[in-house]
Amino acid sequence: METLDFTRLPLGALVSSSRTVIRCPQCRRHGVLESYRDGTRVCVHAETKTLPGMVSLPTDRCEFAGPRAALAAATPS
Ligand SMILES: [Zn+2]
Repeated sequence: METLDFTRLPLGALVSSSRTVIRCPQCRRHGVLESYRDGTRVCVHAETKTLPGMVSLPTDRCEFAGPRAALAAATPS
């Protein structure tokens, strides 16, 4: 099991899947920006990888924009 700590990466660095390191609007630490289809935006500060190729589990993150109601209604999942 591998833990990735994004808080020590420089601003603007690219992490896997073209995620960009930003300064978190919530806590001011560094993290990677993730956007979901419903409009939710989170800043992930650390995540754990179980196995190569498996899903990464965010262990430390801030959510700073909630889902957009209009978009969520327009795109049933
Ligand atoms: Zn944060």
